[in-house]
Amino acid sequence: MDENGHGAQARVWLETYGCQMNVADSQLVTAVLRRAGYVTATKLEEADVILLNTCAIREHAEERVLGRLGDLARLKQARPEVKLGLLGCMAQHNRAALVEKAPWLDLVAGPDAYRRLPEMLGESGFDPAVDVRLNRAETYADISPEYGAGVRAYVTAMRGCDKFCAFCVVPYVRGRERSVPPADLIREISELAARGVREVVLLGQTVNAYRYELVGFGQLLRMVAAVDGIERIRFTSPHPSDMSQAVIDAMASEPKVQPYLHLPLQSGSDRILAAMDRGYTSTQYLDLVARVRAAIPELAISTDIIVGFHGETENDFGATLELMRAVGYDSAFTFKYSVREHTRAHRLGDTVSEAEKQRRLSEVIALQEESSLARYRALAGRVFPVLIEGPARRGVGMLAGKTPDYKTAIFPARAGLTAGDTVAVRVTSATGHTLTCTLA
Ligand code: SF4
Repeated sequence: MDENGHGAQARVWLETYGCQMNVADSQLVTAVLRRAGYVTATKLEEADVILLNTCAIREHAEERVLGRLGDLARLKQARPEVKLGLLGCMAQHNRAALVEKAPWLDLVAGPDAYRRLPEMLGESGFDPAVDVRLNRAETYADISPEYGAGVRAYVTAMRGCDKFCAFCVVPYVRGRERSVPPADLIREISELAARGVREVVLLGQTVNAYRYELVGFGQLLRMVAAVDGIERIRFTSPHPSDMSQAVIDAMASEPKVQPYLHLPLQSGSDRILAAMDRGYTSTQYLDLVARVRAAIPELAISTDIIVGFHGETENDFGATLELMRAVGYDSAFTFKYSVREHTRAHRLGDTVSEAEKQRRLSEVIALQEESSLARYRALAGRVFPVLIEGPARRGVGMLAGKTPDYKTAIFPARAGLTAGDTVAVRVTSATGHTLTCTLA
């Protein structure tokens, strides 16, 4: 038995829900547990420890996890020695309700408690081990996550958020902003490059709010661009209010920083933007889009849209459609507003019916499909360098990769071409999601 009470090589099954930050956190958790002697289970049935890394951003995400916990209750009944734990945002958001609803849980750990997981797994007793304390200093800078295979790696540059948008639970479940020291990031990214990673995506809830002592996000981009072996740099998600000129200049002048920007809008109505506390108006947002496009002419822009926020009228919704048309996004993540406990909008409640939210969502999706199709089709005949990621999911004998502006390109395989190579391709046809290409 090890110090945690498990036999040698206890096997862990880890399921991840939610955003890319959670995927990165699961890689971190895997590294923490591996250091403590745990190994990864290849099947759920053989696991000694089952962990769910959860998301609290929308009600639907929480419901999925609660359903999953119900399934796992049966497994726990059959094998009571298995340790069952809940990690991440939902652990932080709903700890009391969770322990009540799922008394078979052995462990509940928030996003700042992952260092303590081996210790928590070693605790025995009737009550679950719970640690949901937020820690303003925790960046896990000294722990190298267990990155998956592949030419692209997602590297957490900062954690938490100070923005407190009225609808969002993130600042409450992930705590305040803190940035990983640049020296640790550069060391990590250099090691990734040595292992064959060609593209890094810097992650943070508001990644362009990155600041460590005198180093801001623009300078960080330049430092990462200086790492040999890294060919492409992306980042997600920036906040429009933090898109400083230094960041725009770094994007424009560092060829490794790719011409793609995810710029969450949420609503095109100034009234709703103010109610959401987003910190910008529609005019300021459009002005930012114009400035970034002027600096980076090949730029693709994607966004997040929420429909049906408290008080959103038909006019407000119309303003969102209008702004979407004005920008012409390459893609968009679209959501129906769902009231989240502990947020400032919680006490305001819901004013838009479910049916009306669904109608608005369908309209936004239809508009975006049109816009995506136009943006993708406009590239017909153009030649792009594509970083090969591997075989295409569809199409026998086809390879897939991303263009600099983050569009999926598929093209015929050729002997000698392999993941990690960059190849020139010519676009022959397009849907609103994929470019079909020939080798140029
Ligand atoms: S910027 Fe707003 S929406 Fe984004 S994580 Fe922070 S509070 Fe949530």
